[in-house]
Amino acid sequence: MKQQTTEILVIGGGSTGTGVAWDAALRGFQVILVEKRDLTHGTTGRYHGLLHSGGRYVVKDPRSAEECIRENRILRHTHAHCIEDTGGFFVVTPEDEGDYPDRFQEACARVGIPCTEIPVAEALRHEPLLNPRASRVFAVPDATADSFLATHATAQAARLAGAQIQVYHEVVALLVEGGEGARRVTGARVRDLIRDEEVIIHADMVINAAGAWAGQVAQLAGIPVHVIPGKGTMVAMNHRMVNTVLNRCKMPADGDIIVPIHTVAVLGTTDEKVSDPEHLRIEPWEVQLMLEEGEKLVPGISQARVLRAWAGVRPLYQEGFQGESRDVTRALTLLDHQQRDGVAGFLTITGGKWTTFRLMAEVTVDKACEQLGTRRPCTTAETPVPGVQQGHYWLGHRLSEVEEHHLQGELICECELVTRAMLEQAAAHNPTFTLDDLRRDVRLGMGPCQGGFCTYRAAAILHERSVTGKDDAQARPGDADAWDVAYIQSPAHQQTLPPPARLEGFQPNLLLRDFLQERWKGLVPILWGQQLKQERLDALIYLHLMNVDHLPVDGEASPLTDFYHLDPAQIGAEPGQPQASLAEGQALNERAGKEKNQEGQP
Ligand SMILES: Cc1cc2nc3c(=O)[nH]c(=O)nc-3n(C[C@H](O)[C@H](O)[C@H](O)COP(=O)(O)OP(=O)(O)OC[C@H]3O[C@@H](n4cnc5c(N)ncnc54)[C@H](O)[C@@H]3O)c2cc1C
Repeated sequence: MKQQTTEILVIGGGSTGTGVAWDAALRGFQVILVEKRDLTHGTTGRYHGLLHSGGRYVVKDPRSAEECIRENRILRHTHAHCIEDTGGFFVVTPEDEGDYPDRFQEACARVGIPCTEIPVAEALRHEPLLNPRASRVFAVPDATADSFLATHATAQAARLAGAQIQVYHEVVALLVEGGEGARRVTGARVRDLIRDEEVIIHADMVINAAGAWAGQVAQLAGIPVHVIPGKGTMVAMNHRMVNTVLNRCKMPADGDIIVPIHTVAVLGTTDEKVSDPEHLRIEPWEVQLMLEEGEKLVPGISQARVLRAWAGVRPLYQEGFQGESRDVTRALTLLDHQQRDGVAGFLTITGGKWTTFRLMAEVTVDKACEQLGTRRPCTTAETPVPGVQQGHYWLGHRLSEVEEHHLQGELICECELVTRAMLEQAAAHNPTFTLDDLRRDVRLGMGPCQGGFCTYRAAAILHERSVTGKDDAQARPGDADAWDVAYIQSPAHQQTLPPPARLEGFQPNLLLRDFLQERWKGLVPILWGQQLKQERLDALIYLHLMNVDHLPVDGEASPLTDFYHLDPAQIGAEPGQPQASLAEGQALNERAGKEKNQEGQP
């Protein structure tokens, strides 16, 4: 069995884990990070997209608000190109009566969050679709962030500092030595899902950054950590109806934020306790509620086309807490298992926000230093990640590059302006195994057609690479040369890079089928109106013309196949039953969509 040794082993490749790996590597530690799927497979890839100013939590959870505003200021420098400086409004709609706005303003002043009340007329000049019946508007430094890019950029920064980032490596056991009272975690047994082999990783310190799965990982060492998994559902509208992050000015509740992200507007979110972070089912009422609440901020928004619904799970933690997940603190929690459970060599970092991932890493590695008997200062607050010189991103950056460099003929995904070179570059220089990984890298298939026109093109390009066998630059996890993320979302930059290699591992039919199935998952809950028509067209292309559900895959399954088979986000069935396939679900949802349409409601 393959053996590796390191000083620090990090479990989890979300924002927190990659932040820890980056911080620890910068402090000169040997670091290995293992992630069971692709980076951002967990909550980090399924969040609302906000770089919080702290305003949302300032009344209810001031500690979390303080963490947010401090990190907001830092990330604008260290991760500038992953952030769009949209600003944020807290809006008092006719439904938001009471003294909350004044308490909000006072609390912002106490915590140090810049907050300026602006005339409603001025707010309407910035946001013409904002509810004109709003009575007060407060401007705060909220922004939006691309967590796929930010996490990849942090991972690349960690690699440049010497860390190894191993994706598709799942921790299946923790190595624990010593008897009662003197127990110590000394590493982990890890399954390499691509090569189908086990690896033992010995480590002086193991850091559990597995987000909503942190309780399951701690349990591998027999330690009870009761993470409170709060599921949040979000829906993306096909236009970016707003340019500013819009929050209702009231105590946080369901569906009270609209976030402009790249070309879309995202409404969210709910907060429902779930039993398992891997198995998420989006209920019709959640979608309905998002649209109804969205109307209060932007009247008419629910009439637009809904592109997709998805859910993430908050890794919340509060020792001994029993109530609703919305009432759990959003502040970060570091569990020192030596002090708490008498198990040395093991820390769990959980809670917090995407916005506070750098701070979470800092306090974790500080504690690791203390336990390893060394003092090494944290430098992440002053160290920019690769690509930062591009400055904040802006809505038109891809379009302007595509037009300026005459790349229209090279487009593979017209919705998201992904060029052939971007795709090939990402496949060659990132550890990529499925088309869904490429989606996270370059936004393939994330627009209105949800992969209708780009999936077959992308699969064909990868097939072309595999038959021509240009695999000299083939990306493998652990390759020092792999990963080039600084300009990963910049079409123009990708033109000049060397020819890429083929995707490792899976055959194109399987990649195609898995990606369609994955896109389908997010369409199931919102099939009506324009998006139903789109899906009908996509079904004609893939099921009727290409016969895609019968393409031979030689009995192969990818980690993504496994993921969707396990997911009970199906229609009409109870959790535990298999998910409806694209073909079965298509029929069911056409009927459901028609019925809803006839009733005149989404
Ligand atoms: C609906 C919703 C909206 C949100 N909106 C915002 C927002 O707008 N702004 C904001 O700042 N925050 C937001 N958050 C919070 C934020 O998204 C999370 O706090 C943050 O992404 C958590 O990151 P993480 O790295 O701790 O966890 P994750 O991103 O979940 O990472 C944990 C990783 O561990 C991996 N893993 C699990 N088990 C194993 C194993 N056995 N072996 C190897 N790897 C394993 C998982 O695959 C996963 O990738 C939101 C959260 C939710 C749910």
